[in-house]
Amino acid sequence: MEEKTPRPGTKCVWSGEEEYLMQGATQVPVVHSVSYGFDDVDEWLAVAKGEKEGHIYGRNTNPTVHAFEEKVRSLENAEAATSASTGMAIISATLFSLLRPGDRVVSVKDTYGGTNVLFTEFLPKIGVTVTLCDTIDHDQIEAEIGKGCQIVYLESPTNPTTKVVDIARLAAVGREAHATVVVDNTFATPINQQPLALGADLVVHSATKFLGGHADALGGVVCGEKSLIDTIYHYREINGATLHPMAAYLLLRGMKTLELRIQQQNRSAMRVASFLETHDAVGQVYYPGLASHEGHQIASKQMQGFGGMLSFMLKDNTFDAVRRFIPRLRFAHAAANLGSVETIVGPPATTSHVECTPEERAAMGIPESLIRYSTGIEDIDDLIDDLQQALGKV
Ligand SMILES: *Cc1c(COP(=O)(O)O)cnc(C)c1O
Repeated sequence: MEEKTPRPGTKCVWSGEEEYLMQGATQVPVVHSVSYGFDDVDEWLAVAKGEKEGHIYGRNTNPTVHAFEEKVRSLENAEAATSASTGMAIISATLFSLLRPGDRVVSVKDTYGGTNVLFTEFLPKIGVTVTLCDTIDHDQIEAEIGKGCQIVYLESPTNPTTKVVDIARLAAVGREAHATVVVDNTFATPINQQPLALGADLVVHSATKFLGGHADALGGVVCGEKSLIDTIYHYREINGATLHPMAAYLLLRGMKTLELRIQQQNRSAMRVASFLETHDAVGQVYYPGLASHEGHQIASKQMQGFGGMLSFMLKDNTFDAVRRFIPRLRFAHAAANLGSVETIVGPPATTSHVECTPEERAAMGIPESLIRYSTGIEDIDDLIDDLQQALGKV
């Protein structure tokens, strides 16, 4: 009888671990060894040549790190995966290993801040042209892809106003243009969205956020076809931004509850967004699960859940109002990260878009009073009560 493929919640708990359970241990060990010894020189040679599986040196591979990569690979239903020390390290490795001078990237204006710096500052330095399109202008993005490019780089939903791009539509156009289609799936996670199934070639994650889920470890991972992953891995092993085994262990442990956390965060974010939408002190609410959201149709088509991230503006659209509101929240860290078990709030003015002037932010569609809200796993009634009392005082 053929074995059935387990469902995502089961994969979160079991996938990727078996190979490394030692001496009957039920948990993956943290292997801190820098190198691995061989009794047989010929075996060493075979591993070094890639003819046999095994570990030689910690900058290249590590058992704990490999178990983490395997768990994400299994959840993204990918052929292969490799990791790096942070989300930015894996995004950099992906772009720098696949691009060469004269190449062209087509992407959108609303990518993660660090990715945007790669596009505007570092890729041009090596002679790569980057065209950043209006994030939801699908016709413009298609036209730019049609002019020829080597990479189409997408993110959905985006930071901080949760814009949604049609991954299947743009991936089809990208593939037709013989480009490699890369999607940053950090906000959605494989529980809510599977870019590879929608036609992308590579899916990247900042594991620092929802995958790890506890804001205690940095990491990045990319999944896709083996030939592409081998190219990225080769760059990363030389570049040296290797995921630390202790971080891999923390991420692996965090991922055991990924499905549970995401289901809760999907439900809670929907409740929070609906509550905020009817509150007198709140202006526009940005959440792909709301029927009022401009990307709701596309999100409903390509996501199984709308995620834990939302943002909203205050009616009093001033930074002063933000200054009064945020410290009044009892159950929310005011911090720069997202995707943790604790609720986290932050204004883009101090986090993702700190280097912009108020005018520049306004031009990007980011109001001064915008607040990014990363819904945690607290009791939802406590989160609503907390927002209610804090809004009552703005
Ligand atoms: C945080 C983040 C990154 C960068 O990840 P780090 O782990 O901080 O390097 C990339 N993309 C998105 C969408 C993010 O939220």
